[in-house]
Amino acid sequence: MTGYRCTATSEVHAEVRAMGETISSPHGKIEWTPYSTLQCLLEDVPHDFHAAFLRTGTRADPASDVYLCWRDGSLDQCLADLDCCMARPEPRDAGCTIFEHHPGRCQWEYIDPEQVAAQAQADQLVEELGLSHCPHSAWDAPPL
Ligand SMILES: [Zn+2]
Ligand SMILES: [Zn+2]
Repeated sequence: MTGYRCTATSEVHAEVRAMGETISSPHGKIEWTPYSTLQCLLEDVPHDFHAAFLRTGTRADPASDVYLCWRDGSLDQCLADLDCCMARPEPRDAGCTIFEHHPGRCQWEYIDPEQVAAQAQADQLVEELGLSHCPHSAWDAPPL
């Protein structure tokens, strides 16, 4: 059985982001999500609250991330500094970035429709670029 990613999204409130900026971190470089509207990281199974990666957390070993958390039907948001799951399919693969003991399966075990869409778009682009190499007739157009 294949699961899909939860489709809940939430736009980060300015004051919540400002609060997130005050959290200290042992990491030299704090990574922030590039998005202003965040999508829940969990698999689409029942869960108490939605959670999305906001920025690097306050711990280095094991690493933690600061998650934006919200519930259905509420505009309230809160931040949670949680240890990362870090489970990985193979030792050399990237670890799961959902928080530890998260509901549902790990990131690589469910399908993220957005990623599927991006992959399809990339495939199409490659196909179009591939085609433009081939026909010489394209160069036979009369000069303007
Ligand atoms: Zn969710
Ligand atoms: Zn996981």
